[in-house]
Amino acid sequence: MNSVRSAEVIAVGTELLLGEVVDTNSARVAADLAEVGVDVYWSQRVGDNQARIMAALDAALERSDLVVLTGGLGPTDDDLTREAIAAVLGEPQTVDPEIEAWLRRRFAANDRHMPESNLRQAHVIPSSEVLPNPVGTAPGWLVRLTRGGKERYIVTLPGPPRELERMWHQEALPRLPLPGSKLFVRTFKTIGIGESLVAETLGELTDQANPSVATYAKADGVHVRVAAKADDLDRAAALAQPTVETVAAKLGDSVWGTDADDLPRIVVSALRERGQRLAVAEGSTGGVLTGYLVGADDSVDQLGRLTPLSGRPTAPDQAVRRFGAVSGSVITCDLETMRALGVPLGLLQKLPYGAVEVVAALAAAVRAFFKADLGVANLGPCVPVLAASNDASIAEPGVGKLTRMQASVAPQSGRPGVLPAVPGAKPVGDDRTITRVVIAIATASGTSVKTLDLPPLGGPWQRERSAFTSLHLLRSALR
Ligand code: AMP
Ligand code: MG
Repeated sequence: MNSVRSAEVIAVGTELLLGEVVDTNSARVAADLAEVGVDVYWSQRVGDNQARIMAALDAALERSDLVVLTGGLGPTDDDLTREAIAAVLGEPQTVDPEIEAWLRRRFAANDRHMPESNLRQAHVIPSSEVLPNPVGTAPGWLVRLTRGGKERYIVTLPGPPRELERMWHQEALPRLPLPGSKLFVRTFKTIGIGESLVAETLGELTDQANPSVATYAKADGVHVRVAAKADDLDRAAALAQPTVETVAAKLGDSVWGTDADDLPRIVVSALRERGQRLAVAEGSTGGVLTGYLVGADDSVDQLGRLTPLSGRPTAPDQAVRRFGAVSGSVITCDLETMRALGVPLGLLQKLPYGAVEVVAALAAAVRAFFKADLGVANLGPCVPVLAASNDASIAEPGVGKLTRMQASVAPQSGRPGVLPAVPGAKPVGDDRTITRVVIAIATASGTSVKTLDLPPLGGPWQRERSAFTSLHLLRSALR
């Protein structure tokens, strides 16, 4: 029995072609195949149409050892995966009495009558082995065949991701003759350099095959993935090692983490190690930043209850008094809240809320208000706020030294919803639609401010981007 070296996935379902359901099954299956050393060179998506499923399967069997079909195993007329396979192989379908009895028992146990259409889910063909599905009604198939003198395998999996996951891992993968090879992967996570600059820095490294080097733009920055395949994991790691070192050296300080490192967790762990707490004021992230921090904080349970913050207590009673890494959080964009937190009224009356001075004062105010060690604030254009670039440091009474990275304040526009052009800002697409977000971090030793010009890619994207930039600044402040 030769081992499976190449595979492809066919995701069946008209809803996938219409974009109504995102095809996550193909990604799941492909990622697992890569991990066990199977090459995936093709992937197809096809609607609920027997002739087209047959064409897709036929093409796949010509070029790949294993073809995984997901979806189309339901009881209705538009579930045609079994029919297409039977037709391509020229085999008749029959009802498997064991599956039929199992299906009838399943319906009876729920006091339900089984529609006759469900009997289709008990169909088998002579070359199929049944893959049980205890969490649904659609069993899968593992089909063994030869095509052009080569051994081929077809696996069918149910569409619902939860059912697919179980059948794929527990029923299908253990039955397949997989290659012994293992994939070693090291992912570098970077910030502050765009994908094209990362690619330029890596140069010809991205052209090599084993180890391969690839770049991916993600919400938390650009990732660089080095992967090597060998007979076992140690050999794969050894093969990757020189490339891993070269990539690490080339990327230098722009790397903030590797592999499973997660920015919110890094920030929360740094806070916990120092026994410090953070106060948050979110004007441009609308709760997204707090959501990430709370999600990464093991001292917050599922009901949102807090357990005492672990770490070195700085006062005898601190271990019982201090809870969670976030001491308090507000979503704010209005004068009353900012004033209540302690932002000087004079500043709020004089300046637009997104001005660096206001955001710096807000970070310091929220830090003091919640008696935290660090304060983070971000504000977008609650009211039109715009600015020219310059680099300077200014001292603010009560705020400490303010590092001004990129901004000053321009006059307010009279037209709500339309931001005036940003003088001196780098144009990104149409610079009239740039959203300027200011982020400030206040600590005992001072406040730093960063200005972010975001292209018009929608609120969720902008909130995500502002949240991750806030997390990156927090990470730097905690180093
Ligand atoms: P089916 O097995 O084709 O009846 O699919 C049942 C349900 O599973 C669909 O309505 C989708 O919600 C989900 N589904 C099917 N295919 C996929 C896929 N490729 N990725 C994610 N979900 C899917
Ligand atoms: Mg379907």
